[in-house]
Amino acid sequence: MSLLSYVASSLKILLIMLPSPALMQQRRLTIQEILAYQLPPGEKLARCLCHAEIIAIMDGEGWYYTCCPNCARKVRLLGQDYYCGTCAENVPDSKQRYKLIVRILEISGTTTFTLFNKEVERLVVVPVENILAELTQDNPTTEIPAVLNNVIGKTCGFDVKISSYNTNLGYEEYTVVKLSEYDPVEVEAVAEPSGAGAEAQNTT
Ligand SMILES: [Zn+2]
Repeated sequence: MSLLSYVASSLKILLIMLPSPALMQQRRLTIQEILAYQLPPGEKLARCLCHAEIIAIMDGEGWYYTCCPNCARKVRLLGQDYYCGTCAENVPDSKQRYKLIVRILEISGTTTFTLFNKEVERLVVVPVENILAELTQDNPTTEIPAVLNNVIGKTCGFDVKISSYNTNLGYEEYTVVKLSEYDPVEVEAVAEPSGAGAEAQNTT
């Protein structure tokens, strides 16, 4: 991404996010700053904005989970039934939800973000139930369905949570609370009216 288009897209993301007063109060951090972030003493959580491109889906991390309809936490299979440890009961009406760990990139570095149901659906436009319903024995659920690869190459404004899981335990996989995608074609048009150059460089 050229510097011009980077700046233009950054401005665009800020504009997209302006309507929400809650988001306006959040600081925008680079990936380098997120990785180095230390929670203030006594704080368990921080929120920030980050503008970056999704460059890969982390393999072997799964792409959905089965959750409890009451508390939305992950349930586990206990014999024939799903059991929710939080609600301490069997949940016959469990639901599937997306959970995708993606590698993201911007000018300062790279890290991994965890995207949950609504945000993945926002990007791929297909609900998880539809994908699961179409899977056959030839396409086991352990493999990441091809349609999910549509998230790769998307540049978004991410509203990210930094918790002690990240800062103290050293795990990345920062949870994305919300994201806004922007249209790179539109941004290229604003930044470089004549420029096909940047476009070509970005295509790998
Ligand atoms: Zn529950």
